[in-house]
Amino acid sequence: MTDCALCEIPSREEDQGRIIRVTNLAYSVMNYEPLMEGHALVIPRRHTRLGDLTLKEACAINEELVSLTDRLLALYPHAPPIIWTVSDTPHASIPSHFHYHIIPSEVGVRNLMANFYPHISSRKRAEKEELEQIASKLR
Ligand SMILES: [Zn+2]
Repeated sequence: MTDCALCEIPSREEDQGRIIRVTNLAYSVMNYEPLMEGHALVIPRRHTRLGDLTLKEACAINEELVSLTDRLLALYPHAPPIIWTVSDTPHASIPSHFHYHIIPSEVGVRNLMANFYPHISSRKRAEKEELEQIASKLR
């Protein structure tokens, strides 16, 4: 696919300086609109959705996430990285090309997510029956 920005990055001359690593299956790149210093993306080389990743692509992406997590922790020890994706959903800017965001974060994932659910003010354990009912709907 030629009109996908994520497909073009590894070969686009102007992006070479922000690429972290490229393999034949996946690549990592600094986000051009970083939310935090160190905000990067991990992306399969092939234009694909999450559900269509091959096992080798999934492994390559996982290896890069693990490696990048270690490198980000070394660079920003006060901000352990959080891994996000909304790919394959309408929330994604490019939903048809799966990608992860990996972002150093000075707050834990629960506090970070709580910012998106402002009606939740404190931790509240759900009732067992409620969780079982929803799990049953998801099965
Ligand atoms: Zn693509």
